[in-house]
Amino acid sequence: MDDYDLLVVGSANADLVIDVERRPAAGETVLGGDLAVHPGGKGANQAVAAARLGARTALLARVGEDGHGRLLLDSLRAAGVDTAGVLAGGAPTGVALITVDPSGDNSIVVSPGANGRLTPGDVRDSAALVGASRVVSAQLEIPLETVVEVVRNLAPDSRFVLNPSPPRPLPAEVLAACDPLIVNEHEARVILGADRTGGEPEDWARLLLAEGPRSVVVTLGGEGALVCDGSGAVRVPSVKVAAVDTTGAGDAFTAALAWKLGAGADLPAAAAYAARVGAAAVTRRGAQESYPTAAEVEAL
Ligand code: ADP
Repeated sequence: MDDYDLLVVGSANADLVIDVERRPAAGETVLGGDLAVHPGGKGANQAVAAARLGARTALLARVGEDGHGRLLLDSLRAAGVDTAGVLAGGAPTGVALITVDPSGDNSIVVSPGANGRLTPGDVRDSAALVGASRVVSAQLEIPLETVVEVVRNLAPDSRFVLNPSPPRPLPAEVLAACDPLIVNEHEARVILGADRTGGEPEDWARLLLAEGPRSVVVTLGGEGALVCDGSGAVRVPSVKVAAVDTTGAGDAFTAALAWKLGAGADLPAAAAYAARVGAAAVTRRGAQESYPTAAEVEAL
C-alpha cells in the first residue's frame, strides 16, 4: 500500500504575473512590466514541496493540452514528482492572472480550466494510485465531489490531510476523514461562520474539532501554528527568518506535515518540521521556486 509516501490530489495552474504601478479600475487600461509565468496551483505546489524534501510523491490532477500544461509537467518532473496521474485535456490549463502593485497588494483572477474537469470518475480510474499511498492530501481548487470520491477510495490504513482552500462549507463525510484539517484564520472563519471565530485560535481549533475531523492544525503565518486533537491544543512556534515572499508557504507547510505524519511522526513533531519548511519557503521569492530541500531545512 505504500508505493508513495504522499499522493496529492489537486490543482495545477500557470501563474501569470505582471508588476503594475497601479491596479486598473473598471474600464481602465494600465501598462505593466514584463509578463512572468510561474508553475503554481495548490496541488502542484504541495507535490513539488514534498518531492523536494525527498518524499516519494505522486500528483493526481488535470492540465490542458497546451504550453502551460507542459510547463507544469516539466516543473513537477524536475522536482521528482511521479506525473503518471496528471491527466491532460478537457479544457485549457488553469490560470491565475495576477497584477502586483509596488506596495505588494495584488488582484487575482483565476480560471480553473482543466482543474474544474478533474472528476470523481478520474479518481475511480486512479483508484490504484489512491490505494497505493500512505498519505493522501487534497485542497479545494478542484470540484468538491472529486474530493468526496478521494475520501471514499482511501486505503483503510492511509491518512487523509485536507487544506480547505479556497474555503467553503464541507460535508460531514469529508470532515470525518481529515487527520488533520489544516486551516488559516480566513479558512476557519468560512468553515465555522464569522460569529464563531472570535477569541483565540485555541478556541476556534476546538470548535473546528467538534465539526468532526480527527485533528486540526491552524496556521498562523509568522506566529507559527497550533495543533489540536482529542488530547488538547499545542502551539508550534515559528522559526524566525527574514520573510521575503509568503506565496505558497501554506502549501509547503501542508506537504511537509503530511509527509512527516506518514513517516510516523506525531502531530506536534510533524507540525514543528512543517514550520521549518514554511519558514524556509518565505525566505525566497515565488512558490515552487522557493521550496527547500531537506538539507536546506536542516541548515535553517
Ligand atoms: P497560508 O499561506 O495558508 O495562509 P501561513 O501564512 O500561515 O499559511 O503560512 C504557513 C506556515 O508557514 C506558518 O504556519 C509558518 O510555520 C510558516 N510561515 C509563514 N509565514 C512565516 C514568516 N513570516 N516567518 C516564519 N514562518 C512563516
